[in-house]
Amino acid sequence: STADIGVVGLAVMGSNLARNFARHGFTVAVYNRTHAKTTELIEAHGDEGDFVPSEALEDFVASLKRPRKAMIMVQAGNATDAVIDQLAALMEPGDMIIDGGNAHFENTRRREAALREKGLHFVGTGVSGGEEGALLGPAIMPGGSEESYESLGPILEAISAKAPDGTPCCSRLGPDGAGHFVKMVHNGIEYSDMQLIGEAYDLLRRGVGIEPADLAKTFSEWNAGELDSYLIEVTAEVLGHVDAATGKPLVDVIVDQAGQKGTGRWTVQIALDLGVPVTGIAEATFARALSSGTKQREGAVDVLTGPTAKVDFPADFVEDVRQALYASKIVAYAQGFDQIAAASAEYDWGIDLGSCSALWRAGCIIRARFLDRITEAWRSNPELPTLLAAPEFTKIVTDAQDAWRRVVSTAALAGIPTPGFSSALAYYDGLRSRRLPAALIQGQRDFFGAHTYKRVDREGTFHTDWSGDRSEIQL
Ligand code: NDP
Repeated sequence: STADIGVVGLAVMGSNLARNFARHGFTVAVYNRTHAKTTELIEAHGDEGDFVPSEALEDFVASLKRPRKAMIMVQAGNATDAVIDQLAALMEPGDMIIDGGNAHFENTRRREAALREKGLHFVGTGVSGGEEGALLGPAIMPGGSEESYESLGPILEAISAKAPDGTPCCSRLGPDGAGHFVKMVHNGIEYSDMQLIGEAYDLLRRGVGIEPADLAKTFSEWNAGELDSYLIEVTAEVLGHVDAATGKPLVDVIVDQAGQKGTGRWTVQIALDLGVPVTGIAEATFARALSSGTKQREGAVDVLTGPTAKVDFPADFVEDVRQALYASKIVAYAQGFDQIAAASAEYDWGIDLGSCSALWRAGCIIRARFLDRITEAWRSNPELPTLLAAPEFTKIVTDAQDAWRRVVSTAALAGIPTPGFSSALAYYDGLRSRRLPAALIQGQRDFFGAHTYKRVDREGTFHTDWSGDRSEIQL
């Protein structure tokens, strides 16, 4: 046995990760159900490092040094369970199975518990950065036992992306499902960020009438400032690209339906269970659904009308939109961190939000310059009630709020949907309101359901006898 680590599943992600391990000097065992893929990998890239290919899973496991480390990169769901069962049958106590696929964290918890019974370590890990990240350095979000991280951690850290200060974008986030949970919320924030960028584009294109080529320049300029991030950079690239077949901006020939593989939906579903308002992620997920709801769109497009009054866009609207984007983006991250904190408390994971933001600084899709500052905010006060209460972020959103309000109100007048900007602003206003209309809602609940209420001026639980003499009863 010579291999430091093994990879099972050699589609795009698995083969790139295997090459990344090999390029960093690790001996990598490789196995794929369809052996031709293993052969292809070795033929094309075998010279990049030390690979140990196997045609049979038994040989693959036998080629691993103890404690054995086998990383699975197969389709999430049944395929992952099947591969885990096959591997577990061949492994011995102390060995590790690492799932780098996009598993639901509840599955990871189930699998970890089952393998722990057999004395095996199961490490569910998020891997972000797509194909290129897997090869050149992804952000890696492992969950699992401390013991497993002792020998596995250094290998994962070696192949991970490095933050601008040189820190590996990989650290153990907590036991069992912690890693996959954080990766899921990462994807939720990604949905939110993409939606906000889409809205900024729509306002400036459809509203102000700026052409994609010019908007590409605007986004590039934004990328040189505080909005500096991978997604803004990608946006500039896409907007600047011209379709070879038609000579039109590519964005104009792409069908306006955004797909989804499910992690945004999971984030929202679980946020509902945890009772955490991740309104930005929810709106982004629903906006994708609306874009793909062709029946409703086709039925409405010629029937429902827009505003009748002409709208004047504010003088420096491009700058307003930039500020609204930044403020809304901070809200999206704040909500995502709230969800991670809530799950960490619920499942006793002990996730450190500073480590979490630190490892998103490079390699992953939501990498952004301002994650440095988010990391500092959590490190200087891990007990922050919300990221928006960190002095630096309080100042940014406060300074941006006038622009943000102009953008949301102008968008409404112009009839351009901005569910991301609007819900982020509503969340901001909700948080800062001293009194919310929830008082009235609780009154309604007491009226029709005797759900009781608390008073602002006295301790205790109260109910008004609505159907009787309307006197108040203290319970
Ligand atoms: P796919 O999700 O397309 O999975 C294909 C691989 O799964 C092949 O190696 C295939 O083997 C194997 N497989 C499928 N069913 C079985 C089975 N029953 N038994 C054994 N092997 C099986 O590959 P990707 O590389 O795109 O993704 C791998 C994982 O990484 C997924 O969970 C994905 O969600 C996650 N991921 C993907 C990212 C991306 O950008 N693509 C980014 C981050 C995570 P065979 O060749 O024999 O069919």
